[in-house]
Amino acid sequence: MARSARLLIVGLILTIHLSPFTLQAQDSTYARRIIRDLSSEEMFGRGMQNRGDSIAADYLRTELMANGVKPLCKNYFQYFRFPKTRTKPPIVNAGYVSQNVCGYIPGEVDTMIVFTAHYEHLGMSGDTIFYGAHDNASGTAAVMDLARMANLQRGQYTYVFLLFGGEESGLVGSHYFVDNPLIQLSKVKLLVNIDLFCGGDEGLMVVNANSRETSPYVDLLQQINDVHSYTPKVARRDNAANSDHYWFTSECPAIFLYTLGGPFGGYHSPTDTCDGCGLGNYHRLMTLLRAFLEQL
Ligand SMILES: [Zn+2]
Repeated sequence: MARSARLLIVGLILTIHLSPFTLQAQDSTYARRIIRDLSSEEMFGRGMQNRGDSIAADYLRTELMANGVKPLCKNYFQYFRFPKTRTKPPIVNAGYVSQNVCGYIPGEVDTMIVFTAHYEHLGMSGDTIFYGAHDNASGTAAVMDLARMANLQRGQYTYVFLLFGGEESGLVGSHYFVDNPLIQLSKVKLLVNIDLFCGGDEGLMVVNANSRETSPYVDLLQQINDVHSYTPKVARRDNAANSDHYWFTSECPAIFLYTLGGPFGGYHSPTDTCDGCGLGNYHRLMTLLRAFLEQL
């Protein structure tokens, strides 16, 4: 056998061995359960009212443990305080304590791929619950699904999973994390934030797609999609302070993914329910994401 052929075979074996995202069946059953539970009435819209945010955080911690994800800090929770009172949803009192939920799956090296999503939402206004299925039970579910897969087959990289609180009040939880990091941010190869992941009939948007650090990654994502047409398009935007990736962009390569097009139930409205959250594109979007992660 020629040396190049041998190297090719060794390379293929290594690729299969090193990526946790290959060869695994994927459907939306797991994601649907997470979205249904997070956007149920028992979570009160995952805000300050009835401590819905903490009920959701407890649920996610249990789920991370079931997925073999280890804690990044004591009991997985990094606590922070809200700096300001807000009188419009998300209604919150200054000094109210919430938490980020933080875990990791160790790899062969300490270079990290980080997945983030905000799990809290607008909470309640009077008796009205903002269920927040699309925003952002859906992105949280996608990150939990990636944790589940990473646990089934360990990989080369260390995978970190950060579920933030306080996003809707001005990216409060992620700001606290970047000021008080539980990981060495200089060792992050790429951070992928997912926020709004129902629907997707028109494709996928990547925010912070055009910086020197991130554009090669987004090029790769587009090339994979050009070959396989997993989604109608992978579109690009410059950076914006519109989700939790924002504070990280000065520290490490960080991109933010959200779906384009429906179906979803609403945006910042009580109609944003689990029943309105279409997952017909979920399998193809996750297949694209996994094909991309395999090549990092
Ligand atoms: Zn959001």
